[in-house]
Amino acid sequence: MNKVYFKAIDSYSKTEEISNAARELLEKLVKEENVILENVIPLKVHFGEKGNKTFIKSNNFVGIIKYLKEKNIESAFIETNVLYRGERTTKEKHVKLAKEHGFTELPIIIADGEPGEDYEEVEIDKKNFNKCKIGKEIANKKQLIIISHFKGHALAGFGGAIKQLGMGCASRGGKLAQHANSIPKISSFKCKGCYACAKKCPVNAITVDRIAKIDKDKCIGCASCMAICPNKAISNSWIASLSKSFNERFTEYAYAAAKDKSNIYITFAFNITKNCDCEGHSMKPIVDDIGVFASTDPVAIDMACLDMVDKNNNKTVFKRGRYTLDYAEKIGLGSKKYKLVEIK
Ligand code: SF4
Ligand code: SF4
Repeated sequence: MNKVYFKAIDSYSKTEEISNAARELLEKLVKEENVILENVIPLKVHFGEKGNKTFIKSNNFVGIIKYLKEKNIESAFIETNVLYRGERTTKEKHVKLAKEHGFTELPIIIADGEPGEDYEEVEIDKKNFNKCKIGKEIANKKQLIIISHFKGHALAGFGGAIKQLGMGCASRGGKLAQHANSIPKISSFKCKGCYACAKKCPVNAITVDRIAKIDKDKCIGCASCMAICPNKAISNSWIASLSKSFNERFTEYAYAAAKDKSNIYITFAFNITKNCDCEGHSMKPIVDDIGVFASTDPVAIDMACLDMVDKNNNKTVFKRGRYTLDYAEKIGLGSKKYKLVEIK
């Protein structure tokens, strides 16, 4: 049974405490789990979409960065380009936004290059994919620290380490493959024809003639339109029937991204919003801040986050998407059973 190390911190405003806790958990994990550190260990992060206010800011990672520097380990912030149109679609814009969002302590690597198509195919031979397109600069590393922000996600139900690995490490083509087959619906009653969804759609699948209409042959199921619609006209009813398939696909990608690597997972459970940091607007947290988690097992750490959020709120918070953990365990990504080691 893998261990998940945890330190409770009740407010995201306690930046120094969070940063020190992340370092303490990392040190503890390395020592107790006999983790052999490589000479190069990038930090896989999420820079937050432009306009998003609740992504985890890099000053919370200072403790981790100092620890790596003291060990003479070369590091960088590493990320991949996104599928949809925005400030994180290409390398140049992505790096600019990362710096604007304060990610200045380390060099920045966009793992899938300027157009988002530098990748290596990782063989996994699973139900949905035989090979996965993983950003080249991630695929060629032996070890990463996967830094995740635990929060909700419009498609996945919730996002943590598995989502950060699966979607976060895939090249654009890999992201597209994960999203395939999820076509949203537009309510003709709610749609006001504002054109926002059409402007956001990365493949021009939406036309607006009084109301918006989706061309099902063009749609790649990225869900960007759903996130942007100001009138909640784009339905997620399709999620119910297709979520298992989507969750399986990004979990298989997570398996590929972690394959043959000795990764470390550190998850920050603060600013726990209903939706994810890809949404370019401010959102309010839906539950209290929890603390920092660390593990060598991406399944165990996600399970521990869910359990702790539920425990603190005395109810099941993120009901949807828990199939991800079952499937992750089934394909050998990790274990839902864990031992929580709380650091006081
Ligand atoms: S963003 Fe929403 S309201 Fe605006 S055109 Fe699209 S579906 Fe209609
Ligand atoms: S119509 Fe399809 S491809 Fe376009 S934004 Fe919506 S989900 Fe994405």
